[in-house]
Amino acid sequence: MSQVLLARITCPNCRNVFQAPVEQILDVGQDPTAKLRTINGLVNLVHCPHCGMDGQLNLPFFYHDPKRELALVYMPLEAGRDEMERQRFIGSLTSAVINGLPMEERKGYLLQPQIMITMDGLINKVLEADGITKEMIEAQRAKAALLRRLVDASSEEIMEVMIRENDALIDDEFFRILLMNLEIARESGQGADIQRLIAVRHKLLEASSEGRRIKVQGEMLEALRNEPTREKLLDLLVEAPDRRIREALIILGLPLVDYRFFQLLTMRLEETPEQEEKERLASLRAEILEVRGKVEEATRALYAERSALLRALLQSENPEALARRRFAEIDQAFINLLTASLEEARSTGDLATVRALQDVWNMILKLTEETLPPEIQLFNRLMNVESEGEVEKLLQENRELLTAPLLQFMERAAAEMEEAGDEEITRRARFVLERARALAPAAAGFVTSPA
Ligand SMILES: [Zn+2]
Repeated sequence: MSQVLLARITCPNCRNVFQAPVEQILDVGQDPTAKLRTINGLVNLVHCPHCGMDGQLNLPFFYHDPKRELALVYMPLEAGRDEMERQRFIGSLTSAVINGLPMEERKGYLLQPQIMITMDGLINKVLEADGITKEMIEAQRAKAALLRRLVDASSEEIMEVMIRENDALIDDEFFRILLMNLEIARESGQGADIQRLIAVRHKLLEASSEGRRIKVQGEMLEALRNEPTREKLLDLLVEAPDRRIREALIILGLPLVDYRFFQLLTMRLEETPEQEEKERLASLRAEILEVRGKVEEATRALYAERSALLRALLQSENPEALARRRFAEIDQAFINLLTASLEEARSTGDLATVRALQDVWNMILKLTEETLPPEIQLFNRLMNVESEGEVEKLLQENRELLTAPLLQFMERAAAEMEEAGDEEITRRARFVLERARALAPAAAGFVTSPA
């Protein structure tokens, strides 16, 4: 558990006293937001209810990232009257962290946390553990600032000049920052920002070197998707202008990179009269082998990790707590593994294993459901109850959730189901929508039908 205490705080601005929650333990293993909050200076932020002033409390806390084996204590110099008191406090935080962990996760590094006396120092340590250096942070700031300037550019011509002058700064990371900004704008519903960011991206794709590269890569991947054959993959690999594009092609076309594929490549190599082209194909062959090896190694390592997690869940006395702690690792690879294990247990008639795996499956569905907004949870339940009578009952019980955004979501979902062509599901979705509409206005007290 991340530890939260209520503290009495005297506002430095209006001198009024109020209570606010403060965090003493930030455990990334249990609260994945803890890392971002730490990096962005959002830990122990308080808001004075009397004068409205916001500020960050300079209080000690323990930062723990089990995956990186990182244990840090933020201990500003003004905390504690003397060294003794400081040491005692560090000791009590440390034991609180250790006691909060299951036996198998109590490791030696926790006993010797590194003491950080400034927030900047702590943030740098956290980033360093991710392999991010100060220089990289500076570079990232410069990229974010350039993106801002591009978004604010008053004309296309100015945008083009800025792109030309900063071509070296516009790399794959720059495009990632752009996508991240787009996502944030989408989530917070900032339509104008979305439009401008899309316009900037469009311009970048035609005017920057990296943009043109991304465009070519996108086109080549699309060509492979449209014609997923060994011959096409080989043609594209031969044509591809750089290694990153070739890597992307190999990853997408991995199932095609087999013995027959290499036969094709060898044949082409032997048929080529030019010595230079022969050498190019030979080095291409070496490169493909190397990339394939790396991808397979990474996949193997990932599946080994997920398989260890599945075993731990099956053996744990409290699998739900474990699954919550390691929710970030419950990804597509984990689901693939779980599905394959279930199939295998079913085919061998191992009923005990089938039941155990089924329990894990149900628990994960439940946890996944929890991460959804309550409105969406309601919609999922409405789609899954047995009878229309139960739909009615659920809707009656949850009238306060029947808001305009939910009705819009239901409309979109129904339309998508119709498009997918499943009549039974579409009929249910239409029924849910119709009943929800009938019940909504009275409950929510406003007009719900969108334009
Ligand atoms: Zn105040």
